[in-house]
Amino acid sequence: MTLTEQVEKLKKYNFKITPQRLRVIEYINDSPGHFTAEDVYKSVVKVEPSITVATVYNILRAVTMSGILTSFEVNGTTWYETNLEKHANFVCLSCGSIEDFEIECNDLSKSAEAKGYKVNNVDVIIRGYCKECLSKGLIPEITN
Ligand SMILES: [Zn+2]
Ligand SMILES: [Zn+2]
Repeated sequence: MTLTEQVEKLKKYNFKITPQRLRVIEYINDSPGHFTAEDVYKSVVKVEPSITVATVYNILRAVTMSGILTSFEVNGTTWYETNLEKHANFVCLSCGSIEDFEIECNDLSKSAEAKGYKVNNVDVIIRGYCKECLSKGLIPEITN
């Protein structure tokens, strides 16, 4: 989705485009991958010094509801991404990197729906160690 397409889509959801909001949408547009509200704030505050983290959260929530972004939580942190395809997110327990991982999520929805549930979305998070950390031997001892 281009920036113009995103702005048009947001306008359909009665989302007023203010300068601060536009900066956040620009960030989303320039940042494929996974990011947090903090990441957006640190970048946008350089050009919009009056923006607050709370404002960024509110903008991201509204943008997520309009279907441009999707979000998931890892250990209490909300991550956002523009990859709207159903996929699993692989989270590295050592360096914290997040990578997209293709899996068949439809089977998960179907098994829940077969039991009579209505599925809105499926979040799949795979936790482990990324190839880079494995190659560097950065695997902590099991402490618990
Ligand atoms: Zn890693
Ligand atoms: Zn992802």
